[in-house]
Amino acid sequence: MAEETIFSKIIRREIPADILFQDELVTAFRDINAQAPSHILIIPNHLIPTVNDVKASDEKALGRMMTVAAKLAEEEGIAEDGYRLIMNCNKHGGQEVYHIHMHLVGGRPLGRMLA
Ligand code: C5P
Repeated sequence: MAEETIFSKIIRREIPADILFQDELVTAFRDINAQAPSHILIIPNHLIPTVNDVKASDEKALGRMMTVAAKLAEEEGIAEDGYRLIMNCNKHGGQEVYHIHMHLVGGRPLGRMLA
């Protein structure tokens, strides 16, 4: 069994977070260390440590993460100018929290790549 991270506590609302959306599959909240005017994390409610651990049975939650990203981008007012969706995997990908999460980043020009 993979070990829970701080994100499980955020999902269960045991620690504070600025939650923008939650349903039976996913939770979205503002990143505490925002790298842009809009920086939101969208995560599945069940623990998947890395993208390497994704299974076919996760597809519904993963699809929901994408539709929630599009909805939140619209609500943030960044849809038209554009934004970036990022998922980091393991050490070389710069993953710090081992509960997969999609970064939704926008509100300023982002250049060709994030570091
Ligand atoms: O993709 P990576 O694992 O590096 O990103 C983890 C992200 O989780 C960081 O951007 C960090 O600021 C964010 N975080 C958060 N709230 C916490 C712990 C981490 O928003 N309580």
